[in-house]
Amino acid sequence: MDWERALRSQRAHKLEPRLGRRLARLVFQQAGDYQEADFIPKPLVHELERKAPILSVAAVKTSRSKDKTVKVLLELADGARVESVLMRPSSRRWTACVSTQTGCPVGCPFCATGALGSGRGLTSEEISDQVLYWRRFLRREAPGEHLSNAVFMGMGEPFLNYEGLSGGLRTLLDQRLFGMGPSKISVSTAGLVPKMERFAEEFPGVNLAVSLHAADDALRDRLVPLNRTYPLSALAQVIKDFYTDEGRKVFLEYVVLPGVNDSEKDARELAAFVKSISVKLLQVNLLRRNPGGDAEEARRFQRRLKAEKLICTVRESLGLDIEAACGQLAAS
Ligand code: SF4
Repeated sequence: MDWERALRSQRAHKLEPRLGRRLARLVFQQAGDYQEADFIPKPLVHELERKAPILSVAAVKTSRSKDKTVKVLLELADGARVESVLMRPSSRRWTACVSTQTGCPVGCPFCATGALGSGRGLTSEEISDQVLYWRRFLRREAPGEHLSNAVFMGMGEPFLNYEGLSGGLRTLLDQRLFGMGPSKISVSTAGLVPKMERFAEEFPGVNLAVSLHAADDALRDRLVPLNRTYPLSALAQVIKDFYTDEGRKVFLEYVVLPGVNDSEKDARELAAFVKSISVKLLQVNLLRRNPGGDAEEARRFQRRLKAEKLICTVRESLGLDIEAACGQLAAS
């Protein structure tokens, strides 16, 4: 939804600002349609439908998991496709997992999006429209339930599409539009250090998730090839220098790959890395590899970390049966 375009039509029809605000609430927060806006003139309703359609993305295929996760394949205006996911990590919380690119050039070997290679960056509108899509979906399929959180952990490396990401985030954070709080949003990165600095300054309070996967440079060079440009020391420094503001969480994500990054030595190195950063709201999340992994692999590494006095959580893999879990998105 391009609200600027909608505003131009509103101005041309001399709509009172208070009615424009009411319309924004209806569209973004109540996930309603223009036709429900009986407080604005009908000719404006028709013009908005033509000139500022509510969604810039169209659902092609929907898959539903037995754990309530839903995945949608979305087609964009130029025919490109991305996947987007709705998750229910707890009974009181619905979260949208948002994609920012149609592929990804970073090439992490365990990631289906990485196997697609480079894709184009999504526009700000295509990014925030994924959240709007899920709000409208919930209104239709689970009336009374509300989408409260968004994580930028779908297809693509968000910081390689900084312009689209930042525009989409501003729309989500705008209290007149989506009205989300910064603490309800997390952006994940493989470690694009210069953009991490910029993001920290431009979006205070928005959480950061770093795809770490190894705390040894030689191993991380293989698992997250971006590490060859921005090694662990640079990653630790930017977190220490820029991510210390009150209330902002920093997550370190670690996919457990048996025989690759889950030895006692790996546990020691990860514990030392975390200690070297010592940011207050830092949390380590272990993820199982998808597909084929099991939670016990992650729990075994969790015990190794506990022996190193590092407390961490094992994140549940939601949507495995519909290929919607971490590392599985590929727009197919
Ligand atoms: S894990 Fe993230 S950064 Fe790595 S290839 Fe996949 S989408 Fe790209």
